[in-house]
Amino acid sequence: MTDFFTRRDGALAVEQVPLARIAAEFGTPTYVYSRAALTTAYQAYAAACKGRNAHVQFAVKANSNLAVLQVFAQLGAGFDIVSGGELLRVLAAGGDPRKVVFSGVAKSEADMALALAHDVRGFNVESIPELDRLNAVAGRLGKRARVSLRINPDVDAKTHPYISTGLKGNKFGVAFEDVLPTYRAAAALPHLEVVGIDCHIGSQITEVAPYLEALDKVLDVVEALEREGIRLDHIDVGGGLGITYADETPPDITGFATTLLDRVAARGHGHREVLFEPGRSLVGNAGALLTQVEFLKPGAAKNFCIVDAAMNDLARPAMYEAYHRIEPVAPHADAPVTYDVVGPVCESGDWLGRDRALAVQPGDLLAVMSAGAYGFVMSSNYNTRGRAAEVMVDGDAVHLVRERELPADLFKGEHLLKG
Ligand SMILES: *Cc1c(COP(=O)(O)O)cnc(C)c1O
Repeated sequence: MTDFFTRRDGALAVEQVPLARIAAEFGTPTYVYSRAALTTAYQAYAAACKGRNAHVQFAVKANSNLAVLQVFAQLGAGFDIVSGGELLRVLAAGGDPRKVVFSGVAKSEADMALALAHDVRGFNVESIPELDRLNAVAGRLGKRARVSLRINPDVDAKTHPYISTGLKGNKFGVAFEDVLPTYRAAAALPHLEVVGIDCHIGSQITEVAPYLEALDKVLDVVEALEREGIRLDHIDVGGGLGITYADETPPDITGFATTLLDRVAARGHGHREVLFEPGRSLVGNAGALLTQVEFLKPGAAKNFCIVDAAMNDLARPAMYEAYHRIEPVAPHADAPVTYDVVGPVCESGDWLGRDRALAVQPGDLLAVMSAGAYGFVMSSNYNTRGRAAEVMVDGDAVHLVRERELPADLFKGEHLLKG
């Protein structure tokens, strides 16, 4: 997917547009997305789903820019949301609420009501108190909420502890031994309709084996429920497929999705609908964060390359020690020096890359690659820094899809004490 970021006469470009042109027009730091990369990743899932009863729900939290959602909505995607705010984004982007699934461990009553009012396709519920709350809200509105239970299959996704979600010790999902009684409880509530089952075991998963292990446990549950007369129409296998940041070798999207669909069919469940909830694998390699070198600061222990993007723009390195490739936009022939690439924020955790060999000068542009997922969406205003601009490239066209925040935007809702 990084294929849409290529070098043209040595200079880094996205599709037909040199990144230097984007920096000149929109400034830095700026997130840059490739529409073709988004589309290609989506089509890779769609190819596996073709001719089967299987659909893709883009996990909005990975990148919720309206233009990104619009691209997926136009391709026919459904959406996996985790808040009422994300539902409003999907609607604003032209997405179909009847293709929206609402996930998350603690949906508020207001968000449940909003989702019911828009007749979303369903709720992935994670506990008995949440079932009770949803039943009450639906009853008050005179509706029946369609529910799936998100089960915790207790499998090791072999990923970073902060992004592993399907182990006993994680806060997510209904514990495996409680799944059947929780389904019975759901089936007994008058304003709920049990329609499916869901699991999501983690993120940046680079092997198929944990998925198959989780899927087999899910199918065991489906069969046990059917023996009791509780029939599920769909199986939601979650998201979590990894991408290549450095040298990871995740399975390719179509092959991965086909393997799971084949397993569902082989176990005799081919008549049930299958949902995928990918986030990162649809958007991660479709975006880069463009930044400019401010200063070079040589030191006794470390050399620092100080850039104008920071941990408030891209939190993943500070948060998970995540690796992002950092590419000079216009490389020069000087001998590379080893730098820590850091931002202007007043934290030692404010770094974007460590021990990177770079030939750079102040004023040069760098591209922090694979930043399309969990990039802008996790950004903050720490140090009263406005959030970055976002642009989408489509062939040789560049669209500003989010304006850079200005300092005055940052405190417009604040109030001085009176007197
Ligand atoms: C975050 C999340 C996803 C998407 O995960 P990726 O690793 O980005 O594919 C899917 N489903 C649920 C419930 C999530 O919380």
